[in-house]
Amino acid sequence: MSSVVAPQNTSVWVNIDRCKGCDICVSMCPAGVLAMVPAPQSILGTMIEVVEPNSCIGCRDCELHCPDFAIYVAERKEFKFAKITDEAQERATKVRENHFRKLGK
Ligand code: SF4
Ligand code: SF4
Repeated sequence: MSSVVAPQNTSVWVNIDRCKGCDICVSMCPAGVLAMVPAPQSILGTMIEVVEPNSCIGCRDCELHCPDFAIYVAERKEFKFAKITDEAQERATKVRENHFRKLGK
């Protein structure tokens, strides 16, 4: 649970001021919700992006593994999360194979 105020109707969101672009959250996500995008101004040259928010299943693996407390997931009682689909799992696999980069990048 985060102490950050949740944006309305949002499954997962990021405090980009805290994110260092390590891609741990992307590696944990089973649903291909997250991916790294180029960001020359960041320390590691990439930044996290929530690319498929409607596929988020609310597992919290991203939030629990972020070393910088930079990513947050809505509370179950406040957001109706998706169920995992084959399409989402396939996208997660492709993002991993793409070195955690957003597909097409
Ligand atoms: S795990 Fe945290 S710091 Fe690393 S990319 Fe994800 S949000 Fe950013
Ligand atoms: S809560 Fe789970 S499904 Fe949603 S973005 Fe985080 S790791 Fe992915």
